Amino acid sequence: MVYVTGFRCFKCGKHHLPGEIESKPIPRCSRCNSGLDAEYDYDSIRKSLLTDPFKRASPTHWKYWAFLPVMDLSNVITMGEGGTPLLENNSLTRDIGCSRMLVKYEAMNPTGSFKDRGSSLEITKAMEYGKEKVVLASTGNMGASVAAYAAFAGLECIVFVPNIVGAAKIKQIRAYGADIRFVDGDYSLAMKQAEDYVIAHTDSFLTGDYPWRGEGTKTVGFEIADQLYWRVPDVIVAPIGNGTLIWGIFEAFIDMYEVGIIEHKPTFIGVQVEACRPVVDAWENNSMEIIPVEDPETVATAIACGDPIDGLGALCAIRETGGQAVSVSDDEVIEVRDFLAGHGIFVEPSGAVAYAGARRVSGELEGKTVVCMATGHGLKDMWGIE
Ligand SMILES: *Cc1c(COP(=O)(O)O)cnc(C)c1O
Repeated sequence: MVYVTGFRCFKCGKHHLPGEIESKPIPRCSRCNSGLDAEYDYDSIRKSLLTDPFKRASPTHWKYWAFLPVMDLSNVITMGEGGTPLLENNSLTRDIGCSRMLVKYEAMNPTGSFKDRGSSLEITKAMEYGKEKVVLASTGNMGASVAAYAAFAGLECIVFVPNIVGAAKIKQIRAYGADIRFVDGDYSLAMKQAEDYVIAHTDSFLTGDYPWRGEGTKTVGFEIADQLYWRVPDVIVAPIGNGTLIWGIFEAFIDMYEVGIIEHKPTFIGVQVEACRPVVDAWENNSMEIIPVEDPETVATAIACGDPIDGLGALCAIRETGGQAVSVSDDEVIEVRDFLAGHGIFVEPSGAVAYAGARRVSGELEGKTVVCMATGHGLKDMWGIE
């Protein structure tokens, strides 16, 4: 049983059959080279999947396989990703002044960030295509995640890292045995080098913010609704780096809406840091054009993406749900990191960004059920903690 029917181009709308994508080294539109979005047979999913046992089963990443582009479920590569807690704490609810504050604690994933959801699907695809190596560019967490899943599956892994990546994250990538290639430049240059490598080496598989990762990331959205017994929270607050996370959560809500398991979508609030806020600028200027920021410097290194690949997707999630984009300062991020840790929830700086954004707009959250994404573990980057 496979419910994916193909991939449609975001920009020109060209439809591709699954087989057309598999033969390409870089999974982009064959006509205009833009990003692709998977499409599913919602009618069949509705008929065969949405039964009581499905609704009641515990939430885990692969529970939502029908909404993922996999061919053979018996071959999935999984390390127990997903199924992360949705933490509710009265002090946080009081702090924001909303009706319920829930923190989706993605630090509980095998390598300490939500990136494991995308990696599980990517490495599954690499195995499906019979590849021997996986290649990517990363600002740290994705590299560590893909390196772990590749090692688990017995594949080689090459990570191109730009010059901003923190020492602890480099060590985590190295610990999993990946081959690290340092790039003298930013993330965009690292990405170009990873793509060139894959074009030159046909036994390698490109991972990163391409369609597989976006689809894998969706499962966090299914889990949020599932953990609320298929009720939709009023607001979801997420940090924006490349925009893949917020776009993935939004797409999960579209999938759920299309199959009829939910009746409306939540409002999305996207949060960036002041030093790197290209999506916030586009939102404030009511523009569809995202103007890249060069060499952004912030404590929130996991979201220092000056030219966000899924920036338009992030804008779409915010605009179509009547949400907003806000930015916070590095000081606010660290203050929230310490505040959350003081309530037992330890995150790296980027993992505190969403909550800092919720504080910024707290006046508008009264009476609402709010879910804040806590994206990465505090042990990954203990900035300023002696
Ligand atoms: C990757 C990452 C983000 C940003 O997610 P995008 O999908 O790039 O928007 C935020 N926080 C952490 C900890 C991350 O690893």
